[in-house]
Amino acid sequence: MRVLLVEDDDRVAAALGDVLRRHGVLVQRVSSGQEALVPRAVDLVLLDLGLPDMDGLAVCRALRRVVDVPIIAVTARAEERERIAGLRAGADDYVVKPYSSGELLARMEAVLRRSHRSAQSPPVALAEAPAAPVLRHGALEVDPGARRVTLAGGELKLSRKEFDLLVVLAGAQGTVCSRETLLDRVWGATLFGSTRTLDVHVATLRAKLGDPELIETVRGVGYRMRAAVPLP
Ligand code: CA
Repeated sequence: MRVLLVEDDDRVAAALGDVLRRHGVLVQRVSSGQEALVPRAVDLVLLDLGLPDMDGLAVCRALRRVVDVPIIAVTARAEERERIAGLRAGADDYVVKPYSSGELLARMEAVLRRSHRSAQSPPVALAEAPAAPVLRHGALEVDPGARRVTLAGGELKLSRKEFDLLVVLAGAQGTVCSRETLLDRVWGATLFGSTRTLDVHVATLRAKLGDPELIETVRGVGYRMRAAVPLP
């Protein structure tokens, strides 16, 4: 299991890192909010809410917008309203300093169990889904099995991510796909990245599809492929 440890206190980070490594955890430690938001593949985040450069709750919210891995907030503040704020910011659980390593490990196991994730079961790539049906939208045909897209019979050259994005949107045509869903399904649950990545790929995909209206922006939520108009 890979854990991102966000902790500005070197001594706390070293001690905790030792405990985690003894339990077979691969630890990546960063000491600021800015570094915490750099893209990396992990299975769980331990997030100290008292960081030097950013408000811990803001870091938590920013992480939550782009990833779907468990976040355990760690704080020295024990008041109920602090715990509630942490959970509202998207943390899956909360531990208060000082905590025992036993308690922390038990909580890590519990959130991982709840999220059905472990190092042994990485998210399955869409391309590996068995016998996915061909998706059609007007003159557009998307074949997930062959990873082939044609528009009025002519093949479109899409990048891997553009293709995966199109498969998700076309599979849900007429309904909105949230940014979280798209990031999770296309980039994998363990990507930490700017949500701009998504917007950039939507923009290039729109250009290649030659119909800027086909993929609609749903402000504050995500994107939707316009429902196909039935042929008369
Ligand atoms: Ca701290």
